[in-house]
Amino acid sequence: MENEDTLPELTLFPHTAATGHQGHLAIGGCDTAALAATYGTPLYIFDETTLRAKCSEYRREFGERHPDTLAIYACKAFANQALIRLLQQEGFGLDVVSGGEMHLARSAGFPPGLVYFHGNNKSGDELRQALEWGVGRVVVDNFHELDQLGRLAAGLGLTQDVLLRLSPGVDPHTHSHVATGILDSKFGFPIATGQGEEALTRAMSTPGLNLVGLHTHLGSSLYEVGPYREAIGIVLRFAAGMRQRHGFDLAEMNVGGGFAVQYRLGSPAPPVSAYAAAIVSAMSDGTRELGLRPPRLVIEPGRSIVARAGTALYTVGGAKDIPGVRRYVFVDGGMGDNIRPALYDSEYEAVAANKMGQPRTELVTIAGKFCESGDILIRDIRLPGLEPGDILAVPAAGAYSIPMASNYNASLRPAIVMVRAGRATLIRRRETYADLTAAEADPPPHEMTRPCGN
Ligand SMILES: *Cc1c(COP(=O)(O)O)cnc(C)c1O
Repeated sequence: MENEDTLPELTLFPHTAATGHQGHLAIGGCDTAALAATYGTPLYIFDETTLRAKCSEYRREFGERHPDTLAIYACKAFANQALIRLLQQEGFGLDVVSGGEMHLARSAGFPPGLVYFHGNNKSGDELRQALEWGVGRVVVDNFHELDQLGRLAAGLGLTQDVLLRLSPGVDPHTHSHVATGILDSKFGFPIATGQGEEALTRAMSTPGLNLVGLHTHLGSSLYEVGPYREAIGIVLRFAAGMRQRHGFDLAEMNVGGGFAVQYRLGSPAPPVSAYAAAIVSAMSDGTRELGLRPPRLVIEPGRSIVARAGTALYTVGGAKDIPGVRRYVFVDGGMGDNIRPALYDSEYEAVAANKMGQPRTELVTIAGKFCESGDILIRDIRLPGLEPGDILAVPAAGAYSIPMASNYNASLRPAIVMVRAGRATLIRRRETYADLTAAEADPPPHEMTRPCGN
């Protein structure tokens, strides 16, 4: 642990990160170079201590200000059964957006009553699956879904608790691909057009549906708290109007996720306490002014639970020097395991995990191994001189990397380990070549040929 104070980049890594013996990066008491040797690379490491600390930070910061708060984790940021079991122990609910995520939650034994089902195009099969499993809330996104869910619930003799997803028309000042609460968005019922009100009256009068509240999600990576305040004000004024005109009671207010995390040394994100203070004060000010009963608050952090807990390890291979232009250093992963730099121009830091504390003498660009020129993980970063076999560690890699991983170039999606107190648990094995053909091999193709009508 000797060099901790002199390595500011360690602050981007999990809480347990330290420079261990031989100048190697250690996480959760495990030497990362040894993990790379044991499990191979690319390897994703999740630090259990950091995951649990994040969960309790959310519980504490929101719970102290508004005790009736439920935090639910947005599975799309990264989900597997080990993580879902951990979240259950931490008292979190889950936000799922597909039958597949429901299946993950169900196979991990997660209680369905704490599951919120989101999505702009839930299929009839997915809605039936949700009703039969008994999910706590369906967050209804459009009129087609409203009608379909009402019919399905009535057909099953059930009454399903629902929220309406509203689009409040607030610009969250983030990348356009991850802004969702603006008027011109595929998500939710716009308030401004009157469609929010129409959805509300239809939901209230649909047998089989019990409208318990309203939902908004402004987008992801919101570095400002202002948009939350603005959206909460708009939703509460809408709710007050709906109470007056239709007798609607806002029992639950879900403000979504989008809390930012720090990826680069120079760009810090607000602490959880800043979001909690802004959200809870906007809610209590608004309800007091409008004479509404303070509702239950639901928050949906995804990225901010898992980003810092996750670290990606790569092995350095070759390099390409273009004199006077650039030095490319190649690693054994890239857009197949983390497409965010190619998709969103996302930026990351990195360290040489087996050369911690060595001077950063070279300016390089880290390129992946995939057949796309855009497969660049990090542009222009200073690192110690890198040689084949060195281990590169990328911090804050736990969110929206693995779940967007692909088999592009018939590559194998990486292994994932969870570390704690000097022990590592393989929570997902690396894929094998057999996995690549598993969905095709059996039965042989000629047996899959069927007459298809005319
Ligand atoms: C993606 C999403 C979230 C989580 O967003 P983060 O930026 O990962 O916190 C929460 N709620 C909804 C509805 C979402 O679509």
